[in-house]
Amino acid sequence: MENWLLQLQKKLQDRAEEGALRSLKISPTDWVDFSSNDYLGFAQTLGGVSGSEKIGSGGSRLLAGNYTLIEELEAFIAQFHQAPKALVFNSGYVANLGVFSTLPQKGDTILYDSYIHASVKEGFRASLANFYAFPHNDVNALKLKLQKISSGNIFIAVESVYSMDGDLAPLSEIVELALQYNAIVVIDEAHALGVIGKDGKGLVNDLNLQNAPIIRVNTFGKALGCHGAAVLCNEIVHQYLINFCRPFIYSTSLSPQSVSHIFHNYKRLKNGENIAQLQQNIQYFNKLKSQYNLNFIPSSSAIQCWLVPGNENVKQKAKYLNQNNWDVKPVLSPTVPKGLERIRICLHSFNTTDQIKKLLEDIVVSN
Ligand code: PMP
Repeated sequence: MENWLLQLQKKLQDRAEEGALRSLKISPTDWVDFSSNDYLGFAQTLGGVSGSEKIGSGGSRLLAGNYTLIEELEAFIAQFHQAPKALVFNSGYVANLGVFSTLPQKGDTILYDSYIHASVKEGFRASLANFYAFPHNDVNALKLKLQKISSGNIFIAVESVYSMDGDLAPLSEIVELALQYNAIVVIDEAHALGVIGKDGKGLVNDLNLQNAPIIRVNTFGKALGCHGAAVLCNEIVHQYLINFCRPFIYSTSLSPQSVSHIFHNYKRLKNGENIAQLQQNIQYFNKLKSQYNLNFIPSSSAIQCWLVPGNENVKQKAKYLNQNNWDVKPVLSPTVPKGLERIRICLHSFNTTDQIKKLLEDIVVSN
């Protein structure tokens, strides 16, 4: 980690010496706007919503699109997750794309779990680094790959909760390996935020690993019910992203309206709203499901998958469940490997125990 951070710092220093270091600034409110892209003034106010405050973004973060609320949100998120810094991105997809295309350098290596999200793959394919998969959640296979790398920085790309299976990464073991091999773990917490840990802070906080060499990508589109993402990282990585991450630099920032929605729901998360109920529902679902002889992927998350091999077969089961008013979706191959087609069930805090019980009963009937 130290060598890699020194490399990033050197590139930042080069930029500074060229007088080209980027930093986020907020224009004073009494300046006359001759910089934003708000050509028609629509970003200024929205009739009927909240009166006079600016509701549109106006540009990218480094130009006219930075403002106090987005920086307050970042400070709040960083403090909540005990990370040095948080940087907001426009979506989880863009955050992963940006992190993986920007942070690994030429000659570095990315080892990624074979079930990693498409946005991570898009990111490292756009980088100058080498990248190799290791079999899903297979720590021994990861270790063998780590042993073979003789030069460059190493990144390990995992998800806290895998979106198509609902299972958790063996993060403590992966971090142990990362420390042993001087690697950096980049973890996508999309399906863990609001779900994992008694306060829903995600897997890294739950395992008390916030001081380990980990970069986190938290997305707002799942449990937070909004849109956008934040990268949690140290100061150098934060500054490096602001200076070199093209999906961050060259895109219009989220609007204050979106950010205030995210801020509001993050505060609800901090207050623990609905989290205990969701976790109770997960426990209840798991307890009931163990009483039946059904082929479910073991999961302690909100994502529960019933394996029904064959596209036609799984579509039929989904149709039966939909006819009974259960909104569940079949996941077909090639989205998942052939033979591992499934019905994907997402549990929520608002699902009642009666609904959970009846859904499982209908699954048993359709089996
Ligand atoms: N990571 C994971 C694990 C996801 O499931 C998703 C959404 N499908 C994303 C990233 C992308 O996030 P967003 O929808 O905010 O672009």
